[in-house]
Amino acid sequence: MNNCPKCASEALVETPAMGNIPLDVCPGCSGIWFDKGELEAMLKQSQGGVSADFDLINPKAEGLACPRCKNKMSRGGLVNPLLVVDKCPSCGGIWLDPHELDLLRKLLGLSGGPSAETVYRPAVDPAAPLKLDAKFIRIKIVSAVGAVAGLIGVSYEMYLYLSPAAAVSHAPSAGLAAASVLLFAGGVLAMNWGKGKGW
Ligand SMILES: [Zn+2]
Ligand SMILES: [Zn+2]
Repeated sequence: MNNCPKCASEALVETPAMGNIPLDVCPGCSGIWFDKGELEAMLKQSQGGVSADFDLINPKAEGLACPRCKNKMSRGGLVNPLLVVDKCPSCGGIWLDPHELDLLRKLLGLSGGPSAETVYRPAVDPAAPLKLDAKFIRIKIVSAVGAVAGLIGVSYEMYLYLSPAAAVSHAPSAGLAAASVLLFAGGVLAMNWGKGKGW
């Protein structure tokens, strides 16, 4: 894996999007790495008949580190002295910023063909499974038990209240009924709590 010479933390992503030549493109700055001969091949594919000389004009050894062989690249003019790019004197690769590729096309009188591509970082984590929090589950279970217990309590009090006084062993308790209602309401509320966070 080769890193982008400009963005140290970005790994170049191989993309066949440009004229079927697998180029290495940086997902961060969209810069493109052309191995020796790839730039010429790509330009030939876009219009044909390109016989440009891709030796640098006035190369200076002040370029970036080559992503391929880690040697220092040279900075110099490509086709035109004003189009200053990085080229590796060791492996012959060329690093182009996206606007530099467009400029090069204009300088060579090329039009059409694929332009700079947007490349997306390869997914690092393929859909991490939804993590169920143990504490959350415990709260849910306690809430559900509370709600059911409250419901039973309310039902029992209702049964006592509605039954003829003679048929039941003791009178309905207002306090117990209120506690059951609270337990039920609290349980239901707690069960709904956290729904906004994906529950
Ligand atoms: Zn980059
Ligand atoms: Zn190199």
